[in-house]
Amino acid sequence: MKLTFDYRRYRRPFRRPLETGHGAWKEREGVLVALVDEDGRRGYGEAAPIEAFGTESVDQAESFFRNQKGCFDPADLETVPAVLPCCRFAVECALADLRERPGEEVFRHEHLPVAGLLPAGGEAVRRARELWEAGYRTFKWKIAVHPFAAEREWFRRLRDAVPAGAAWRLDANGGLDRKTALKWGMEIEDSGVEFLEQPLPVRSGSDLEKLASEFPVPIALDESVGTIESLREWIGRRWKGVFVIKPALAGSPSVLLELLRETDAKCVFSSALETVVGMKGALRVAFSTEQEPRAVGWGAAGVFADDGISPEPRPEIPASRIRELDGERAWTEARS
Ligand SMILES: [Mg+2]
Repeated sequence: MKLTFDYRRYRRPFRRPLETGHGAWKEREGVLVALVDEDGRRGYGEAAPIEAFGTESVDQAESFFRNQKGCFDPADLETVPAVLPCCRFAVECALADLRERPGEEVFRHEHLPVAGLLPAGGEAVRRARELWEAGYRTFKWKIAVHPFAAEREWFRRLRDAVPAGAAWRLDANGGLDRKTALKWGMEIEDSGVEFLEQPLPVRSGSDLEKLASEFPVPIALDESVGTIESLREWIGRRWKGVFVIKPALAGSPSVLLELLRETDAKCVFSSALETVVGMKGALRVAFSTEQEPRAVGWGAAGVFADDGISPEPRPEIPASRIRELDGERAWTEARS
């Protein structure tokens, strides 16, 4: 049975360009999709690609949706090409959303803690104090944005700024070289660092393995495992560290959950700076996994100029919150 299919491209400016190891990022673009059944029920999904993670581009996603010519047969879900992981995520989430019946869905976790996102640079110190007061215990900080010596000094101040017991996640977005990564290794031994995320670029596969084998804290892969295809490769390599998984980029939620049963690596689920629409689908994955629960990466606040339309991040997400995420408003906003 074919469903009516519609899509809307959106553009959300960041309040300030987002500094990452990939450079400055000015606005988030993506595409929302809607499936409507014969009774007029609607389900929403979102494609929010980031090419640096191995996904399609926003233009490619939009062009795939345009080619559906206004209708989609759920039987064709499997035929969405693997090179369009965000499109697959969007359509599969929209179907799940459409078929959702209140009270039917059972999650494995009742609550998940949230990691608070700190701004790059020295401003992180003040923000960490605020977030600790608000109840956050895990903090994520971007490194490889400023010179090592400055960041090392800020990190020392960061650790002094909050009580012991905080867990630190340092994310380099692939921006370090081996020498600097090893300097970080000496600095963060025994200092409450949960992991160092993506120290080296995606294309340094065996160098990442070598670094992980001699590093004092676990190494997490993020950009390296952006899509299900690349994650499958690293599971095949028997990666023992951490996988940071952004369900909105990975592809099919059902295939992803199945694949994660094959790994002993620890998994951390994270936002790809998607709207509430993609967030709903991504949180469904995080709350359904059999993996040991860990703080999830939906702790970014004040990132978008139109932040009012996103739910305010809190130190903990209850499963009941997932059902409350309503795509209707994001869909309406996307038209303007
Ligand atoms: Mg990362």
